[in-house]
Amino acid sequence: MTTPTMGPAEPPAGSRAARMRQPLARQVLEAVAAENGVCIRPLAMRRVDVVTGETEIIPMACGATLASKCPSCAERARKLRMAQCKAGWHLDDEPLPDPDPPGDDAKTLVQLRADLEAVRTDAVTGHDVDQIGEVDDLISQVDAALADLGVRGKAAPDSRDRPRRTRSTRRRQDAPDLPRLPVDRRTVGRTFTGADGTVWRPSMFLTLTCDSYGRVNSDGAPVDPDGYGYRRAARDAIHFPKLVDRFWQNLRRAVGYDVQYFACLEPQRRLAPHLHAAMRGTIPRVLLRQVAAATYHQVWWPACDQPIYAPDRLPVWDEQAGGYT
Ligand SMILES: [Zn+2]
Repeated sequence: MTTPTMGPAEPPAGSRAARMRQPLARQVLEAVAAENGVCIRPLAMRRVDVVTGETEIIPMACGATLASKCPSCAERARKLRMAQCKAGWHLDDEPLPDPDPPGDDAKTLVQLRADLEAVRTDAVTGHDVDQIGEVDDLISQVDAALADLGVRGKAAPDSRDRPRRTRSTRRRQDAPDLPRLPVDRRTVGRTFTGADGTVWRPSMFLTLTCDSYGRVNSDGAPVDPDGYGYRRAARDAIHFPKLVDRFWQNLRRAVGYDVQYFACLEPQRRLAPHLHAAMRGTIPRVLLRQVAAATYHQVWWPACDQPIYAPDRLPVWDEQAGGYT
């Protein structure tokens, strides 16, 4: 007679090895959530009822657009983009409603804001540091009250932004000058009239790629590892999102309207990031090249490849300027 034996792969029940093979509760939860299209890493938000004072915790979807972070939210975002694209791409009018006329409360606050601004200017002229601080506090409060009223945009620069103003004038001298137009609240691109009178409103595809850091083999590895620009490749990859944001900002300022696009980021074989975008409207190629070149210069200014501070030489906090010097 033979007794049934367990195969060597089957560890005895209750042993540590058997426990290790059980899926983690967290993994099971994530798999079930993803299968049902529910966010796998929701954020816990506390909501306070201002009347009863009761608080409750509500899970909010994370809203990730990368499937590697949250497949459910990424899929939902993708479907939303598809619906937006289908419904909006070919519109030839602007669906944006005009903002509501300002209420009396908002007007009073804006007047108060202007008065405070005048007091602040006097304080700056008289070098009254204490008063500047007090006025800045009041301005912040008025700004917050305006924001609560649902007034969008800023009537004047934020008081906390002030010390930065001096820094923004510093710009790289060899950066090409771009046309700078006020950006209209308009998203519809140029039209072209054909010989037969048909009006066309074309769109365009754009691919943005980082510069070469040296030749690579078919597997993406550098042909000459000693001469390859590894540091530049790494810095470009880290700053790519900033480059892309700046590119659209510069492009909108250069063409004078709110260019709309659907884009997708992907790594190339050499792992350099790469942007594919479908843009509504057409923009001259020369201008696109100028904007791309100028954007790259701006993002890399000031230079960051030489360390300025070391443990024995630390930046000093300047209370008045509200920043490190
Ligand atoms: Zn999510």
